[in-house]
Amino acid sequence: MRSCLVEEEMASGLEGRLAGLACEVRFGERLAPYTTFQVGGPADALALPKDEAELVELIARCWAEGLPMSVLGGGANTLVRDGGIRGAVICLVNGFRELGLVEGDALLVEAGAGVKIPALVRFAAERGLEGVECLAGVPGTVGGALAMNAGTAERYAGEAVESVRWARLAGGGVETLPASRITFVYRGARLPEPGVVTSVRFRLRKGDAEALRAYLKEHAAMRRERQPWGVPCAGSIFRNPPGERAGRLIEVAGLKGRRVGGAEVSRVHANFLVNCGGATAADVLELIGVVRARVREAHGLDLELELKIAGEDLP
Ligand SMILES: Cc1cc2nc3c(=O)[nH]c(=O)nc-3n(C[C@H](O)[C@H](O)[C@H](O)COP(=O)(O)OP(=O)(O)OC[C@H]3O[C@@H](n4cnc5c(N)ncnc54)[C@H](O)[C@@H]3O)c2cc1C
Repeated sequence: MRSCLVEEEMASGLEGRLAGLACEVRFGERLAPYTTFQVGGPADALALPKDEAELVELIARCWAEGLPMSVLGGGANTLVRDGGIRGAVICLVNGFRELGLVEGDALLVEAGAGVKIPALVRFAAERGLEGVECLAGVPGTVGGALAMNAGTAERYAGEAVESVRWARLAGGGVETLPASRITFVYRGARLPEPGVVTSVRFRLRKGDAEALRAYLKEHAAMRRERQPWGVPCAGSIFRNPPGERAGRLIEVAGLKGRRVGGAEVSRVHANFLVNCGGATAADVLELIGVVRARVREAHGLDLELELKIAGEDLP
């Protein structure tokens, strides 16, 4: 009862601190439906700006109020802990959907951070433009693809980036950053400081529309065969160690089908953990611990997480 009252007081305090913003804010919103794992507790405040003006106003208010801010895209590479995320979670999926060729340049595509990655891949392929097909079959948003430098083992989104628009979490407006000011690494992109990407310009190459279509079809079939399909998950959980495949190490360690609560090591691809129904973040985290310990024992290797983990455990 007491903790319920404390939570209500905190929530109403936060409502006051974020009152009058143009941007939609949902207080105490469960984040599980905002992630592909379908797991996770509430955000104190889930902020859903529709455009850059709303975003800039939101960041300025959170900064002035000393509220912690974090960013969520399509939640396809994120596990939110069961206690949820404190402060404001900024999510661009309610807007930032512009997708088109930059006027006067037939090879430059601009995509808002809230655009779904498959929509970008389709847009480019339909026009016979190459450069983002490494994102085929990758769920999530363009903002998340940039932040994660998503792609295959060999090709990354960052290779095609010309520039990025972003807003610093430390306040200020939205600026354009040339790709040369971003350091792209394996499954990550370092911006000059923490910020929110609002759109990305991709410099593509003229290719063959027919060949691209065939590649995407083949790739989709390959994914359906080799990865869990249609079940809640968050893609690869661990990074591939140099010269190795995390999935192979886990499979050889005999972990396919290993379960903790509602979380299971996929029987199709061992580097995927799936939510078989009712999994909690605590289940997933415990299973991650089991996999790491067993792989260390079997192969003498420490697996590093590719998955982003956000928020707090339940008290
Ligand atoms: C079935 C499945 C298959 C997958 N296959 C692949 C694959 O082949 N290759 C691959 O690379 N990934 C793969 N993934 C992982 C995931 O799809 C990618 O990492 C994707 O880029 C995540 O995008 P998102 O918008 O969902 O990011 P989120 O999970 O929401 O966020 C990921 C990180 O990006 C940050 N972020 C998100 N949006 C922004 C923004 N606008 N500004 C600043 N930071 C931001 C977040 O803070 C977080 O740190 C797969 C996932 C699934 C579920």
